[in-house]
Amino acid sequence: MLWELLKRILCAVCSAKKMLWLDKHKPQLKIIPPEVQQRLDAGNEFGDRAMSMFGDYEEMTIYRPGTTIPDKKAMAEKTAEHLRLGTSVICEAAFINYNNYCALDILRKTEHGYDIYEVKGAPEVHEQFVRDVGFQYYIVNRCKIKIDRIYIVTHGNDENAPFVINDVTEQAKSYVKWVNDNIWNLNRMQKSSEEIQVEVGEQCCTPYECWYYNYCHQR
Ligand code: SF4
Repeated sequence: MLWELLKRILCAVCSAKKMLWLDKHKPQLKIIPPEVQQRLDAGNEFGDRAMSMFGDYEEMTIYRPGTTIPDKKAMAEKTAEHLRLGTSVICEAAFINYNNYCALDILRKTEHGYDIYEVKGAPEVHEQFVRDVGFQYYIVNRCKIKIDRIYIVTHGNDENAPFVINDVTEQAKSYVKWVNDNIWNLNRMQKSSEEIQVEVGEQCCTPYECWYYNYCHQR
């Protein structure tokens, strides 16, 4: 929830406040363009394949009964159980710190703690990916999990060995202060019962069309 929103806040501070509020209070107004949905589906497929890149794994995904909505609390509890058990590779490892939630694509046990692998279907690392995983690191760190290295897995050219591992540890950890400085204000703002008012503008189409474009431009 806040995790998805903060990603957008990191790239468009002003307008994203409104997205943040809408995601919390009017999520039914969100319209995902078909081409974006296609990219999301392709990314999900690549992510599913990546789960086994280190061999056996345990997946934490649990849905609310009769839906495809993740049961975050149940996932976080299952993750905690696998951390206790010492499971080597935990996929969709979920963590909750106060109102803040994140799910890591792959959490892999090391001699010193755990490494994070965030899987992206893109051919290269974008700064947004590093910010995303910086946020995840912040949450996991607050849950007292010792993180060693942080990687982004991109999609290489060789379909027989498509997983390219990029080390972004230093860059991702450098976002911690920014997240800490902003996250509590964002939490407060998101809880406000009054709709956040922001003028529509260039930010509605940049870097991609906002999922609330129709709603905001019809008013
Ligand atoms: S359409 Fe524009 S104003 Fe509305 S939430 Fe999206 S970015 Fe913000």
